[in-house]
Amino acid sequence: MQYSGNLSKMRVSASNDCVAQYTLALGGHDIDMNDLIGQSVDLTYHGEIHCVNCERTTKKSFNQGYCYPCMMKLAECDTCIIKPELCHYQQGTCRDPQWGETHCLSDHFVYLANTGNMKVGITRHVSDGISSRWIDQGATQATVMLRVPDRLTSGRIEKLCTQFIGDKTNWRTMLKGPAEHQDLTALKQRLLAELDDELNKIAQEKGLQAFAPVDDTLHTISYPVDTYPVKIKSLNLDKTPQFSGVLTGIKGQYWILDEDRVINIRKFAGYKVTLTV
Ligand SMILES: [Zn+2]
Repeated sequence: MQYSGNLSKMRVSASNDCVAQYTLALGGHDIDMNDLIGQSVDLTYHGEIHCVNCERTTKKSFNQGYCYPCMMKLAECDTCIIKPELCHYQQGTCRDPQWGETHCLSDHFVYLANTGNMKVGITRHVSDGISSRWIDQGATQATVMLRVPDRLTSGRIEKLCTQFIGDKTNWRTMLKGPAEHQDLTALKQRLLAELDDELNKIAQEKGLQAFAPVDDTLHTISYPVDTYPVKIKSLNLDKTPQFSGVLTGIKGQYWILDEDRVINIRKFAGYKVTLTV
């Protein structure tokens, strides 16, 4: 089978037994990527990038798939998306206040995850207990720490937590193998205790007595990986426009291929490709 179209981030979900499920939409087809593990795949990039927002061709991709004008203009490409503690909606300077109202002035979750290292993060959606963001990051464990009323608040709390733990995923560590089990629940209790005063202060600024307790479940997510790479070689479509090999697993937004190769599919969103399976 051959599928041609512009690459996009894989859609993710979790099965009932919490195995990450990946779907790649390409050329009008929804490809079940879990089904392709253990099989040969060939990906060819045709040297054309289409902005994921306006579809115009662009020489270079910014922010994982946008053209330069869209990157400069769209609210979802603003610095405050990477750094939520800089959300400037309240200052009246949001690039697109309507977008901000939908995306930033709604409940957010501060979570802890194990992506090979323990990290703090924020997300807007937790459906059936699991956030797609956790799967995008290749987290094997995650737990919600707090539910807060807006993006800026989640960013401020995330920032407070970074005094104790990181907020980044080290993708090399994440792809090295199954992560060692971590006691995220203990870490959560510790952070909540350490930050108690500051959290209460923030809650009161929001007109709350304190942040309401959240579902304490520690989620465990597994990934469809047959073989992990030993010495990771990262593929870049700009330098290697064509590759083929056996897909040995998927974790985060990465395909793992034989010969220790990996590729971050999300990074090449908008790239016009043909996938042969
Ligand atoms: Zn564009």
